[in-house]
Amino acid sequence: MKTTALELTDLDVRYGGVQALRGLSLTVAEGEIVALLGNNGAGKTTTLSTVSGLVRPAGGTVRHEGQDITRSSPPSIVERGLIHVPEGRRIFSTLTVHENLLMGGYPVRDQATLRRRLDRAYELLPRLAERRAQQGGTLSGGEQQMLAIGRALVAGPRLLMLDEPSMGLAPLLVTAVMDVIRDINAEGTSVLLVEQNAKAALKIAHRGYVIENGECTLDGSAAELSADSRVVEAYLGGV
Ligand code: ATP
Repeated sequence: MKTTALELTDLDVRYGGVQALRGLSLTVAEGEIVALLGNNGAGKTTTLSTVSGLVRPAGGTVRHEGQDITRSSPPSIVERGLIHVPEGRRIFSTLTVHENLLMGGYPVRDQATLRRRLDRAYELLPRLAERRAQQGGTLSGGEQQMLAIGRALVAGPRLLMLDEPSMGLAPLLVTAVMDVIRDINAEGTSVLLVEQNAKAALKIAHRGYVIENGECTLDGSAAELSADSRVVEAYLGGV
């Protein structure tokens, strides 16, 4: 049996009077790509922020590789290899591509490890190598997304959490970003992928969950979800 990388149990999150998550539970097995699907405001971003320690749940637990990290600090969660690529990329626009990548390596103390990760990021994302001296803010949307992913790679992810990586990208670039995510996963990194583009996400995911109003209402293998009439109607644009 596969070991569980991430286990969320009965998470409740409130922002003042708004209940963003209601008893949300899900798991990501070691080596899996798991897609989180759902409409605007369903609670997908909140789920990732709770894992990262940026949002504190009112109830429930977050476990990473069996250990309870519900109350851990964001830096210690990063040190465990839980790396969050936020929605909207949030790259440093006045820093160069190379400097942006180095920012991902701030917790890395061993210089040889840092160099190896930088080399690997440039190999997986060759476009970044071509543009390494260019300011982040001058990159195209797709390149900025690749840079945000590259920065996460330099941090050494055991579990990579991506929030809407396809947002605002032309179809060819969506495919390119999904291919990169698949390559990263093939090297052993587990992935939790939040996407509004359910079609693109289900192409690379092993399993998925549908979130509605802060709850998981449906889950299954990517094939099961792709064939489910509720998913087809609500998230795959009907037929
Ligand atoms: P989107 O794709 O639009 O980001 P989402 O599925 O990621 O949607 P969340 O951003 O997690 O959803 O939001 C879940 C709910 O919590 C929504 O009702 C949202 O309005 C609310 N919410 C999110 N962040 C805050 C906040 N900082 N303060 C108050 N309410 C919030």
